[in-house]
Amino acid sequence: MTAENETERSGFSRRAALGGAVAGAAGIAAGGVAGASGSVGVAARKRKTDVVVVGAGLAGLSAARAIEKAGRTVVVLEARDRVGGRTLNEKIGKGEVVEIGGQWVGPGQTHVLDLIDQLGLETFDTYVDGKSIYYRDGTLTEYEGIIPPVSGPVLIEILNVLGDMNAKAAAVPVEAPWTAPQAVEWDSVTLAGYLDDFGLSPEARDVIDLAITSVFAVEPRDTSLLFLALYTAMAGADFNNLINTTDGAQEKRIVGGSQRISLELAKRLGGAVKLSRPVKSIGTSGGRVAVRAGDDTWSAKRVIVTVPPALIGGIRFNPPLPASKAQLDQRFPMGTVIKCMAVYDSPFWRDDGLNGMTTSDTGPVKLTYDNSPPDGDPGVLLGFIEGQDARELLEASEAERKAAVVECFVRYFGSKAESAMTGYVEKSWAADPWSRGCYGGVMPPGAIVGYPGAVRRPAGHIHWAGTETATEWGGYMDGAIQSGQRAAAEVLAKL
Ligand SMILES: Cc1cc2nc3c(=O)[nH]c(=O)nc-3n(C[C@H](O)[C@H](O)[C@H](O)COP(=O)(O)OP(=O)(O)OC[C@H]3O[C@@H](n4cnc5c(N)ncnc54)[C@H](O)[C@@H]3O)c2cc1C
Repeated sequence: MTAENETERSGFSRRAALGGAVAGAAGIAAGGVAGASGSVGVAARKRKTDVVVVGAGLAGLSAARAIEKAGRTVVVLEARDRVGGRTLNEKIGKGEVVEIGGQWVGPGQTHVLDLIDQLGLETFDTYVDGKSIYYRDGTLTEYEGIIPPVSGPVLIEILNVLGDMNAKAAAVPVEAPWTAPQAVEWDSVTLAGYLDDFGLSPEARDVIDLAITSVFAVEPRDTSLLFLALYTAMAGADFNNLINTTDGAQEKRIVGGSQRISLELAKRLGGAVKLSRPVKSIGTSGGRVAVRAGDDTWSAKRVIVTVPPALIGGIRFNPPLPASKAQLDQRFPMGTVIKCMAVYDSPFWRDDGLNGMTTSDTGPVKLTYDNSPPDGDPGVLLGFIEGQDARELLEASEAERKAAVVECFVRYFGSKAESAMTGYVEKSWAADPWSRGCYGGVMPPGAIVGYPGAVRRPAGHIHWAGTETATEWGGYMDGAIQSGQRAAAEVLAKL
């Protein structure tokens, strides 16, 4: 289908979409969100550009910036009425925001740290001064440093597993994990199965299970050992880099909130970023690609799709995507996270010598952090509900979830966590039709070795980006940027 043909047909298809015809199918599959631009019966608009980027998250905006800098024309089509994708600032009063999506950056994340620098943004340290809380079997223990107060033998068990995970990560090539010497073996077992073989004590197992769920937002039964090894390899082959605050992925935050990265990028891209344009179809013919969003059809030489694999099925491709890519996308589901924050006039837990961090065996909130702005005004407690705990609350009302979260905060920080609360914000990412889950896509057994290379291999003139396609810090903001820059380089080499 050429861009011209698609344009000619689109006035009709747009009308037919109301009755559920082809042009509307993508929006429905992606969550029932109708195209926001234009109105029924309005003649389609036909535009030309060198490159269309689908999605204005960090991957899409990074790709677009690189393309524009290289002197090529680019258009970014974004389904939502905002930029930032899985990063989102929420106002909490006193001129401050909290992030209800991705927020932390850490050492080794050079793509995001460089970009923060280039955009003139600043970072500040996550609050870690004081004691953390370890809650197990109904007993709360305060402790200093980064090692939870488990017994010596339990600590040895945990370190033994972490060491084994790191050794496996070191054996996985990030560009081609299916070529790791034991790839098939490791992609044949879930993390739960892998951990079972260690015969761990209940406490060691709980701590490791929680660490895994905190990284992937799924249960250890949901993902493969090879995926864990790949994920860890992309983060410097040390699982501690993924879970640590100081010296790890949770070390720093961005002043004014992480969405500022996308807002600043979009500002520099100006009119190239088109909001409320859910892409419904991508057709390739005669060496050009026609990308349809609402009443607009963009004709481009190349397209970069940054939509998470789990949502790609919501776009209709003509010709259809290669079978390997389509099947891989069916095996790359999103994790489940509800990110919840309570707001207080001040971070009262600091007065008690606490840093706001909790590790707990009792949900639904098993991890907490101090998420106050740099000056601690107001105070913000952050709680994560992840994996199965989150799945069980997906259909709960916000009031029910809030009550469950506050109960956890009171358990860890006392009655003031309820009585002094001045505000509450949360986001259930699985409910969002343009993400359908978070933090990112997670692969079950068989997916990596089953479809070697399919995750990044271009389909004709269609290229793939998004944090799920990264080779460094995949799943993170850094990975999103790295993937966008890689896809842009791929496209520029072809133009
Ligand atoms: C609660 C939470 C906490 C997190 N914590 C951290 C953290 O602390 N540190 C960290 O580094 N990372 C974190 N992450 C992950 C991080 O936010 C993501 O890895 C990153 O933002 C992904 O960027 P992306 O551009 O690849 O994808 P997205 O941000 O998902 O961008 C894809 C874009 O495509 C758009 N789109 C979808 N379908 C269509 C369509 N059909 N047409 C047009 N547009 C479409 C979407 O609206 C979206 O804007 C967290 C994520 C969440 C949700």
